[in-house]
Amino acid sequence: MSFVKFMSGENIPLEMHKVRMVQKVNLLPVEQRLKAIEEAGYNTFLLKNRDVFLDQLTDSGVNAMSQEQYAAMMRADDSYAGSETFYRLEAVLQDIFGMKYFLPAHQGRACEHLISKILVKPGLTTIMNYHFTTTKAHITILGGIVEEIVIDEGLKIESDLPFKGDLNIDRLNELIKKLGKEKIAFVRIEAGTNLIGGQPVSMNNMRMVSDICRNAGIPLVYDASLLGDNLYFIKKRDEKYKNADIKSICREIASMMDIVYFSARKLGSARGGGILVNNEELYLKFRDLIPLYEGFLTYGGMSVREMEALAVGLEETMDMDVVSQTPIIVEALCNELIKNGVPVVTPPGGLGCHVDATQICAHLPQTQYRAGALTAAIYIASGVRNMERGTMSEQRNEDGSERFAEMELARLAVPRRVFTLSQVKYTADRISWLYQNRNLIGGLEFTEEPKVLRFFFGRLKPIGNWPEELAKKFREDFGDSL
Ligand SMILES: *Cc1c(COP(=O)(O)O)cnc(C)c1O
Repeated sequence: MSFVKFMSGENIPLEMHKVRMVQKVNLLPVEQRLKAIEEAGYNTFLLKNRDVFLDQLTDSGVNAMSQEQYAAMMRADDSYAGSETFYRLEAVLQDIFGMKYFLPAHQGRACEHLISKILVKPGLTTIMNYHFTTTKAHITILGGIVEEIVIDEGLKIESDLPFKGDLNIDRLNELIKKLGKEKIAFVRIEAGTNLIGGQPVSMNNMRMVSDICRNAGIPLVYDASLLGDNLYFIKKRDEKYKNADIKSICREIASMMDIVYFSARKLGSARGGGILVNNEELYLKFRDLIPLYEGFLTYGGMSVREMEALAVGLEETMDMDVVSQTPIIVEALCNELIKNGVPVVTPPGGLGCHVDATQICAHLPQTQYRAGALTAAIYIASGVRNMERGTMSEQRNEDGSERFAEMELARLAVPRRVFTLSQVKYTADRISWLYQNRNLIGGLEFTEEPKVLRFFFGRLKPIGNWPEELAKKFREDFGDSL
């Protein structure tokens, strides 16, 4: 996408593609939306797609594919071992990242499972800018400890710092000194930090972290799932890389890392995942685990059709028109909301627009899941499915007490090339309405609470009858309109 100047002087996001296949979506009346969220236990993960207007739950596995990706699927080489498809994908990845070995896995968390299995031991610490839900679960289930060292600014809602996902270098040095390298499993950099607003990491910061890890002999792992957005921000926000070729930036990043892994549900607009390493000894450790947990080494649990689509999708990602897709729509959505006074994470990041439930639901105690309540309320007000990224997405402490999230966010993910600008405006309008009526949003409590990753299947109920009141007010204000 590109921002293009209109006659009025306004910069409008313009799609650099045309839509050639469509899927019908339903916008239910507010009364039916209320019923649907009730049936889903006030958890947007449990909504049925038929009850959802715009699915902004995630950017995972829901990005629109190009005609070249669909065409490539037809030539997939079906075979258990030695598939030509594997070698095509491997060649593309080696070219983009300049790394020697590629190991396929069925998705991002599968890579995390294998990396943790090899590097994490009980009592060892993993240091990272910020955790992702599945990453932390895989580390802690093995008895590992997670230390997060994102810079302070990274946890502030409003900021104008261009790279809020950077690691705090002083804290990194301190931790290495305090723990000693033997007690550190690995250091992990997450591109485009998922849980704190899709904020990017700077080249300069990655370089410093890499130098420190190399000196100390600590493995450095790069989660490249949200690399696409991060690449856009490096080109846009770092003067030094303004004219750099995207592929050369990828190679430069990979050259600083020992292990690169990714979810191909995000990177490359297909479905799958993979791990890249240079070191042969490490490669052999992974190689033994792939057939055990994923599938044979030449498919790793992915369908060969998806692998073909991924190979093409990754090549296409090396293009500003592609990596700009999500960040530009996120910026447009954030700007609409900011215009109406709605607090959102700034500067706009990748992945999605993040609405601040701490401010919007300040009248609720944090024990009543502010972000969860806002997420459900957004669905009632709009039919837009979004995701809670706050305390509900955390796990309770060992003693059963609640572990409060540092940020309480409702996340409106922006899948690549899927939604139009009028749909973005609709989302912004309904959330702005909700913001004006925020005093109507009440709290939630669990009725069923799984122990691990509770946000996926947990069920909740409202405290009081606020959802009915909210729906009633919506009907009053919008009349016959959906
Ligand atoms: C989505 C995601 C993962 C997990 O990938 P899946 O393919 O969903 O298993 C890991 N890390 C980050 C940063 C992600 O955004």
